[in-house]
Amino acid sequence: MPSILSATDTQTKATQSVTEQMSVFNHEQIVFCNDNNVGLKAIIGIHNTVLGPALGGTRMWNYASEQEALTDVLRLSRGMTYKSAVAGINLGGGKAVIIGDPKKIKTEALLRSYGKFIDNLGGKYITAEDVSMNSKDMEIIHMETDFVTGLPENMGGSGDPSPVTAMGVWMGMKASVKEVYGNDSLEGKKIIVQGLGNVGKHLIEYLAKENAELFVYDIDSEKIKSVSKQYKIKVLSESELYSADADIYAPCALGATINSQTLEQLKVKIICGSANNQLADENIHGKMVEEKGILYAPDFVVNAGGIINVYYELEGYNRERALSHAERIYDTTIKIFDIAKKEKLPTYLAANRLAEERIKAIAQLNARL
Ligand code: NAD
Repeated sequence: MPSILSATDTQTKATQSVTEQMSVFNHEQIVFCNDNNVGLKAIIGIHNTVLGPALGGTRMWNYASEQEALTDVLRLSRGMTYKSAVAGINLGGGKAVIIGDPKKIKTEALLRSYGKFIDNLGGKYITAEDVSMNSKDMEIIHMETDFVTGLPENMGGSGDPSPVTAMGVWMGMKASVKEVYGNDSLEGKKIIVQGLGNVGKHLIEYLAKENAELFVYDIDSEKIKSVSKQYKIKVLSESELYSADADIYAPCALGATINSQTLEQLKVKIICGSANNQLADENIHGKMVEEKGILYAPDFVVNAGGIINVYYELEGYNRERALSHAERIYDTTIKIFDIAKKEKLPTYLAANRLAEERIKAIAQLNARL
């Protein structure tokens, strides 16, 4: 499998001890799990539990090295702390990785052994699905522990999170349009949607209802065919995708699509989509977006519908409650734009600021009471 980190990410960290790496972003706990009998090698990362138990998915990936896996878990678990804090839910940030090729190593015994490690943490870490893990795998892990979300609906779980994620992205987009154009109607707005998968297809439904003009691209022609049967869309080619004459770009496929090359081509005024880690390099491209006069709705703010959805699974799942919470992404996005203007910060840093303030305030409250 290809590396999912840049070489620099891995090399810089490899010179530090594990606790030194943990101290960079103040991670609370890292748990290394090993079970020779079933071939399990996993790392559970708990970044911060001030707001609640650390919830985040388990990713199974054939990492090139243990260091690469550790770097990934440190980065992803910290990201979950910020995502949940901004979403206003009572969850901390965690994430886990199982090292190995899922096609070769994923067995019932391995997943159950992993479930026992999660159980030993007594609820400090709660898992969910991520890359190469599905709700069937969650069912197996659930045989050993209750600290699992993302279970199928027929088991009291929250099922597919993507309709809730799409609703949140739609809300973030309307807030962005209000900021740029003065009112939040999407009618007649030209919107590029990249990726017509689980989130993209639900997002299209919301946008079509508002009579937006839709421009789409997906590498999978079957997805395009299926969406064109239901909605009036203009299909772009890969080469037209970024340079199309449009108002909004909604990345709903992969990360890192906001980079130096694409920023040279983009003519839009707003970027707002579901993909994780959209900025190839936060420091460089977060600033470049501003300089180009594009309003960037931070990815982890507008795509929080998924984590909001599993949060309500912990309390006895109710989709209406999850959707109604995801609707609040509209107000949160507006708040972030206000902080960005007031503090003269790029929007992604304004979002970080909002998360940090909430964690600090609740930590102080916990210390007093
Ligand atoms: P998905 O796998 O169902 O859909 C992704 C789609 O993107 C597929 O149709 C695929 O063919 C297409 N695609 C892949 N590479 C592409 C490219 N280069 N150009 C155009 N299309 C391409 O995934 P999803 O669940 O819809 O998630 C989409 C994104 O949103 C991912 O980055 C995911 O991490 C993020 N996200 C999803 C959720 C959720 O609830 N599903 C929650 C938060 C974040």
